[in-house]
Amino acid sequence: MKGLAGKTALITGASSGIGQAIAVRLAQEGCNIAINHRKSAEDAEDTEELALQKACGQAAECGVETLIIQGDVSKEEDILQMMSATVDKFGSLDILINNAGIQTERASHEVQTDEFDRVIAVNLRGAYLCAREMIKHLLEQQRSGVIINISSVHEIIPRPMYISYSISKGGMGNLTKTLALEYAKRGIRVNGVAPGATITPINESWTDDPNKQAIVESHIPMGRAGTSEEMAAAVAFLASDEAAYITGQTLFIDGGLTLYADFQETWSA
Ligand code: NAD
Repeated sequence: MKGLAGKTALITGASSGIGQAIAVRLAQEGCNIAINHRKSAEDAEDTEELALQKACGQAAECGVETLIIQGDVSKEEDILQMMSATVDKFGSLDILINNAGIQTERASHEVQTDEFDRVIAVNLRGAYLCAREMIKHLLEQQRSGVIINISSVHEIIPRPMYISYSISKGGMGNLTKTLALEYAKRGIRVNGVAPGATITPINESWTDDPNKQAIVESHIPMGRAGTSEEMAAAVAFLASDEAAYITGQTLFIDGGLTLYADFQETWSA
């Protein structure tokens, strides 16, 4: 896609699922990639290997470079270290993908304060702090750049039993819009990608059970869950110059999930 080759992208939570697919896709488009992981160095190495395979094929070198960086996005010091390691290695950073995310399931009246704080600290505060450091870097270097927040259909659909997750993704929608407006004149575009139900490790509770998966898919107008690669394709588009005039938007990649699936069949005269 236009304008991606030679750029540098940092992807948080890139050792699995959607983050891994984004790292692989951006490398395939010719980006250098910084692969953040919290605790699974081996999985991050898998991401690196897959990315280089896609980017370079059999060639020993193809100009795409990689960096694996450990860091917990809920810790400010880790974020600062992650950003400086990336800039030290590549000289600059053009694209930030705020992908790291967690969720916990519990009735809202039973959620413990530390559990609530943890989800917000990773999904929302972490995304903001990474964006803040990215924007400082871009302003210092007087560069344009792109930030993409990996949100969720739960940015707009309430999610009972997942109150902290729901709030974090709702907040992420506002994070996207506020930063987009504040920095539009500085050449910084900020957008969101909101996946619907996607086959990744975060959803093991239903992807490992065909019956449960069928129930989930029965609520999706297109009748199937999405893939990480489908999410990564949207990210690559928004990161590229093909999307040069798009900012402050969240693109829902959800097989129609946000179209109110219950209305697919007429249920009133
Ligand atoms: P996943 O569990 O495979 O990926 C989440 C990644 O975040 C993991 O690699 C994990 O190690 C990393 N992570 C967690 N805490 C971290 C921290 N403190 N610091 C750094 N990294 C951390 O699941 P996924 O489905 O690939 O999720 C990726 C993103 O997509 C998340 O933000 C999630 O909310 C969002 N999402 C997923 C779905 C879905 O159906 N899979 C739907 C909507 C939104």
